[in-house]
Amino acid sequence: MKLMFLGAPGAGKGTQAEVVSERYNIPAISTGALLREAMANGTELGMKAKSYIDGGALVPDDVVIGIIKERLVADDCKNGFILDGFPRTVAQAKALDEMDIKMDGVVSIEVEDDAIIRRLGGRRLCGKCGSSYHVDYKPTAVAGVCDKCGGELITRADDKPEVIKSRLDVYHEQTEPLKDFYAAKGVLKPVIGQEKIEDTTALTIAAIESIRG
Ligand code: ADP
Ligand code: ZN
Repeated sequence: MKLMFLGAPGAGKGTQAEVVSERYNIPAISTGALLREAMANGTELGMKAKSYIDGGALVPDDVVIGIIKERLVADDCKNGFILDGFPRTVAQAKALDEMDIKMDGVVSIEVEDDAIIRRLGGRRLCGKCGSSYHVDYKPTAVAGVCDKCGGELITRADDKPEVIKSRLDVYHEQTEPLKDFYAAKGVLKPVIGQEKIEDTTALTIAAIESIRG
């Protein structure tokens, strides 16, 4: 099964992708996480991406398309995968088409802008393994410490208020048109993002089950 999650930054794509990945035993592939990993490792790619990401802009299409191409040929993608945060532009979506990758379902998580702004401010990330948390909605057992690996939690540079605003603008301008793109292919599954993560998960699973038939 090939799935994609669309949604504004902070809509909960990554959180839902993690849950769905475990449930269906297919990898969740996040271009954001791959880029942050490259940044943490100080690779050439990471250094190139940093200024875009920290400023709330999109990394150039050719860079992320290259990353995704490399990742999707890995063995663990044979039985399907979940794309989280890719594509983010029509050009990226067309690149998937050119790779002959047909999505079975595109889950679009719908959340209002004001809720997004409240959420992103409380978002925390494990500096070691990349797991995501939220101080109110998904707290760790021990404050500031990752449940999975014991790593220290950090706040992303791009979760600063002024950067959040530009990320939302970018989303509405460049990524939201993908809803029409995939609706035209008949694979779009809108899911209204709920206050509680489990409630969004239930709606997400229902949408995916409707695809599997
Ligand atoms: P969020 O969905 O909360 O914005 P991500 O981790 O998906 O978080 O992305 C963080 C940043 O990484 C984006 O703001 C962007 O700069 C960059 N990025 C991630 N995926 C892409 C992509 N497909 N195309 C361009 N830039 C990307
Ligand atoms: Zn961790």
